[in-house]
Amino acid sequence: MNQISPILLETDWQTSLRQSICSLDELLMRVNLSHESVNACPEAAKDFALRVPTPYLNRIEKGNPQDPLLLQILPQTYEMERYPGYSNDPLEERDTNPAPGLIHKYKGRVLLVLSGACAINCRYCFRRHFPYQENQLGNQQWQQVLSYLNNDPSITEVIFSGGDPLATPDKRLKNMINDLEKVPHIKRLRIHSRLPVVIPQRVTDDLCEILKSSRLKIACVLHINHANEIDCQVADGIAKLQHANVTVLNQAVLLKGINNSVDCLKELSEKLFDYKVLPYYLFVLDRVHGSAHFDVSDNDAIKLITLLQAELPGYLVPKLAREIPGRPSKTLLFLKESD
Ligand code: SF4
Repeated sequence: MNQISPILLETDWQTSLRQSICSLDELLMRVNLSHESVNACPEAAKDFALRVPTPYLNRIEKGNPQDPLLLQILPQTYEMERYPGYSNDPLEERDTNPAPGLIHKYKGRVLLVLSGACAINCRYCFRRHFPYQENQLGNQQWQQVLSYLNNDPSITEVIFSGGDPLATPDKRLKNMINDLEKVPHIKRLRIHSRLPVVIPQRVTDDLCEILKSSRLKIACVLHINHANEIDCQVADGIAKLQHANVTVLNQAVLLKGINNSVDCLKELSEKLFDYKVLPYYLFVLDRVHGSAHFDVSDNDAIKLITLLQAELPGYLVPKLAREIPGRPSKTLLFLKESD
């Protein structure tokens, strides 16, 4: 059993969220870097706002323009360039959006966009242009979602996504989970969130109690791209979720200049397992406008994962995958025989 130590942080998660850094000048001042040294770009921040909460900011090494956490949140000049093959909606989610806030891509499971808010804005995010305004889940839309779920007994799993679904207050989450429990064929709830990583205080006692008392089997898929994102406060939050009977997994995105080396991926997998988290997926980049500077080619990604397989036991090697619109599942990327 993990030993749970209390998360001793001075502010609650909502205060931390409100106090997030949204100014490029302030960010650069806090990390002790100049605009020029990091190709900072105010225009890019207008297109997709800068947002970083203090607990995450504190893990960035001051004075290091290549810090892998900094590069995930820093608006840079490269974002203003446009390339063929990139778009605002690379996963064509608007075609799988039968009701506001509901995305039904795969058999047996639906994704609910619980919140358009995120605690951090990741520059490579494939939903950076998602029309959250059209997908707000108010009471009326929520009833539509419940009716959709009740009418399709093939749906056994609901995925809370976003934005970040844990930006939703505990009380509302509780009501939503209670409603889902009344749909007899729903067995599982999956929560995809970056909040326990970027603001660890989000793993409140109330949240854990809600998850623990549900009849649904619950998995939380965290989003951690680099081992430096995990500190002892993040580890404490993970332990709290596990003690609430939540299966904790991780998915990462393969990002050039951030985690595209065997050493980096190995360290991430090993650190995740130190806290009993299994690496689940490693996604190649979804080609959204503004993210091309993070792209790692499929060939290079496959080479990396092949080298990683030689370094780690199979359960610590995430599945390398790409999402291709219209396919019935994620597409796994493998080494071809002739390679
Ligand atoms: S937390 Fe997730 S949804 Fe929000 S910006 Fe980052 S990748 Fe996108």
